Amino acid sequence: MISIVIPIYNEEEIIPTLIDEIEQSMAGLETEWEALFVDDGSVDGSLAALLHAQSRNPNIVVIELSRNWGHQTAISAGLEHARGDAVVVMDGDLQDPPAVIPALVSAWKSGFQVVIAERGKRGEGLFRRICFRCFYRLLGWVSDFPIPLNAGMFGLLDRQAVDAITLLSETNRYLPGLRAWIGFPTKIVMYDRSSRAAGEPKQHFGRLFRYAFDAIFSFSYKPLRFSLFMGVATAIFSMIAAVVLTTFRIMGVGIFGGPVVVGYTSTLVSILFLGGVQLIGIGILGEYLGRVFDEVKRRPLYFIRRVHGGVERRTGLR
Ligand code: UDP
Ligand code: MG
Repeated sequence: MISIVIPIYNEEEIIPTLIDEIEQSMAGLETEWEALFVDDGSVDGSLAALLHAQSRNPNIVVIELSRNWGHQTAISAGLEHARGDAVVVMDGDLQDPPAVIPALVSAWKSGFQVVIAERGKRGEGLFRRICFRCFYRLLGWVSDFPIPLNAGMFGLLDRQAVDAITLLSETNRYLPGLRAWIGFPTKIVMYDRSSRAAGEPKQHFGRLFRYAFDAIFSFSYKPLRFSLFMGVATAIFSMIAAVVLTTFRIMGVGIFGGPVVVGYTSTLVSILFLGGVQLIGIGILGEYLGRVFDEVKRRPLYFIRRVHGGVERRTGLR
């Protein structure tokens, strides 16, 4: 059995086409399947559209979350409820074409437990593309283990991989990173990413930045190490400066052309520089501390209002 997990947030225009395309590509596979649509607190007609589809196709399950929890959380909810031997994860805006599903499934059948659909080109605006590119570069550089670049969550996870990800109970979830972290034989399948079929991107820049921060700070200690190095470098520099400047003072040698208003510039510059370095260091510490705070609260990841379709009801991970 193959499950398909699709997070949905205000996608009413797209849902009918999406469901048609999924039904078409699954019909060719001749396996049992279920499509779990996770309604992430949509405020338009998405839920009604999903329930309508569900009433005529028993393969469709609709999980209604209690509010908008965010893309990664909605996917986590879907993963937790999927019953399939393999689970396909895809976005609900047709940027992840259902026509790729058979290729994912055949890679899985040839023995790969994690199949990642990697986008060959991005059908998105230039600015967004540049931002994504910078982000993936930075992530590749800081992360302590390789996370495939240019890949979102579109792909397939085998039952063992789904169970592994479900077991990871952290609150700040960057799923592509977790998927790389759990291991298992992985295959990358290429496809072209189109732009969304209709509507606006639902994840605005603020949210994408949050994911970017989660990705960087949950998968690496390098920023902490960087702030330590900055501290050490500053300390060494100031020790050298102390020795040199004291010697000059004792010998009565002026620097920068003589003793005019002595000391003003160097004092101001060093105060500002040290202040900046300290604030950067504290900010980086804060990023980690905030995440620690989120984790120690051990709150459930999400709450479910109702499940429409035949799966048992659960609430949150843990
Ligand atoms: N989405 C969601 N909750 C949100 C934001 C988005 O479930 O809070 C869904 C959205 O309906 C879509 C998918 O996540 O199916 C990807 O969203 P979007 O296209 O806005 O993100 P991007 O393509 O920019 O990653
Ligand atoms: Mg999209």
